[in-house]
This record gives sequence, C-alpha cells and structure tokens, in this order.
Amino acid sequence: MSDCLFCKIASGILPADIVYEDDEIFAFKDIQPKAPIHVLVIPKQHTATLSDVDDPALLGLLMLRVQYIADTVLKLDAGYRVVINVRKGGGQVVFHLHVHILGGKVLSF
Ligand code: 5GP
Ligand code: ZN
Repeated sequence: MSDCLFCKIASGILPADIVYEDDEIFAFKDIQPKAPIHVLVIPKQHTATLSDVDDPALLGLLMLRVQYIADTVLKLDAGYRVVINVRKGGGQVVFHLHVHILGGKVLSF
C-alpha cells in the first residue's frame, strides 16, 4: 500500500471522481478517458495484478460490482467493454488490480 497510487485514491488521500464505493470495492473516473465513459473499478485491498489473485470470492465480487456499476450506476444500456491489463506486456501501468469499464459509444478495435 505504501506507495500505491490507487490505494491512496481508495483511502481518500488523493482525490478522485468517485462513481461507487462499498466496504470492499471502489470505482472512480479515469483521469485520461479513452471513451466517453471510462471508469476504473478496484478492490480496496491492495493486489498488484490479476495474476496474483487466488481468491475466487474476490474476483467474483469484483466482477459482480463491475456489472452493477456498468448496468445500474452508469446505465450503459447499449453495452460496454470490460478490460483488465495484466502486467507490462498487457499494458498495465498502475500496479493495483483494476478493471476498466468503457462505454458511451460503439467501441471497435
Ligand atoms: P492501466 O494501463 O494500468 O491498465 O490503466 C491505468 C489507468 O489509470 C489509465 O487509464 C490512467 O489514465 C489511469 N490513471 C493514472 N493515474 C490516475 C490518477 O491519478 N487518477 C485517475 N483517476 N486515473 C489515473
Ligand atoms: Zn494499491
């Protein structure tokens, strides 16, 4: 946690545009959006990357919250994209596990 950007955001030490929060999960707007709606969903518990997770309950909760935030909070009725960048080769820059929700337009590769 000591020097983790997203731990600092989730604990309120650094500011963010908060979209959703509960005891375990935190969601906030990406500072450099790649789509009209671009939200990051993180577990509050520090985990560096997807490869480090061995708790099915954590992954299950994370994905259920992604679904809730996208469908109910953000109301992305037309659909959305969910992305997890994993380690350097996957384009991960911030090493606190996060799920990108992208939407607000029709996305193509
Ligand atoms: P990654 O490439 O690690 O999957 O994605 C990291 C994301 O975090 C990027 O989309 C980047 O724009 C976003 N980001 C980096 N620093 C900050 C910040 O200080 N605040 C917010 N809200 N987003 C950030
Ligand atoms: Zn962290």
